[in-house]
Amino acid sequence: MRVRFAPSPTGALHIGGARTALYNWLVARRSGGQFVLRIEDTDRERSTKENVNQIYDALIWLGLDWDEGPISQAMRIDRHREEIQRLLDEGHAYMDEGAVRLRVPDEGQTTVRDVIRGEIVFEHEAIDDFVIARSDGSPLYNLAVAVDDRDMGITHVVRGADHISNTPRQLMILEALGARPPVYAHLPLLHGPDGKKLSKRHGAASVQELRDRGYLPAAIRNYLALLGWGFDDSTEFFSDQELVANFSLERVSKSPAIFDEQKLRWMNGRYLREMDASELARLLEEQSGRTGLLPAVEVTQEKMQTVDDFWTLAGWLYERRPTDEKAWSKVMKDGAAENLARAREALARVEPFDQAGVESALTGLVEELDVKPGKLYQPIRVAITGGTVSPGIFESVALLGRDETLARIDDALARARQ
Ligand code: GLU
Repeated sequence: MRVRFAPSPTGALHIGGARTALYNWLVARRSGGQFVLRIEDTDRERSTKENVNQIYDALIWLGLDWDEGPISQAMRIDRHREEIQRLLDEGHAYMDEGAVRLRVPDEGQTTVRDVIRGEIVFEHEAIDDFVIARSDGSPLYNLAVAVDDRDMGITHVVRGADHISNTPRQLMILEALGARPPVYAHLPLLHGPDGKKLSKRHGAASVQELRDRGYLPAAIRNYLALLGWGFDDSTEFFSDQELVANFSLERVSKSPAIFDEQKLRWMNGRYLREMDASELARLLEEQSGRTGLLPAVEVTQEKMQTVDDFWTLAGWLYERRPTDEKAWSKVMKDGAAENLARAREALARVEPFDQAGVESALTGLVEELDVKPGKLYQPIRVAITGGTVSPGIFESVALLGRDETLARIDDALARARQ
């Protein structure tokens, strides 16, 4: 099998495009065939170097390696012109006010055989003789795609359902060229959780945005694979090897698939938990330029759903955060300030200042004060983190260290006295 991913470089690689690329890649890897990358860059204005590079970056980051290409469609214009001339010479096309039109029979039909959708029949009477070259000689989109797919020996065209209406025209061109048509597979459209066409409104819309939001390539591959395909009704986690071994176009659904970022978050969380803490720490250190993040990663990894969640859970260790006023007024009442002062005294005496020492000091104090643990721990948490989201209190205090913990508690006490 020879398949291709043929994006038009318009900017960041959209989630739908990434799903198309992934399915092509899976088809090629499963069959031992080739995955060709063709850049459909005939729109010279939009096909800037940056836009083309965005596609490469996204594919490389996602781990979707191609076997041939990138082939620039624009660079193949001479081949397109040659074939236009041949269609004219052989009477399949004719000139009309300088433009070239393909002859479409008045009767009969063209049938698209689609692995996912079955046969889709297009009546010829509904299709005019369509333009394949403008009067300046430049080839039109359907002509270029058909010639390229033929020249590149593409056996399976796997692309979004938004291209179905182009397919009969491409088939007619292929037939006029005397080429064997490829097999088609038009992938289901992507919708948001509200059932509307996927757009920015639904959150991240591109691979670049997903990367910036802290998703892992492996989790994205797994999630995108399920947008239209499933092995059975229940299995959700697939390694690359399992995807390659089990994927098939026959099992792709016709109905729109729902991209739900919350679901991706959940899935990403599981991928994060399975990562080696040191590997995750290295990733965060590379991204942030900080060092020594491993101890904090070890206590937050369980709770993270995206790489960025680390900063929500542990960012307060490195930088004081402004106090969350709501959290403050909720916890700093009913003797909370006195309890906090007692905690300060107890923590000042802990030796050595590690998690076990902090734990025994604070649990001892809870007993002594005869309060519910939260009555003591929540004020400490708000004092040192600025809010209520953090790893366990003993780990948090031990990681922050004695000096900084006491300093932050002192500030909170001063504030409580105001
Ligand atoms: N260039 C088209 C697009 O980006 C894809 C064409 C095709 O796959 O046939 O939507």
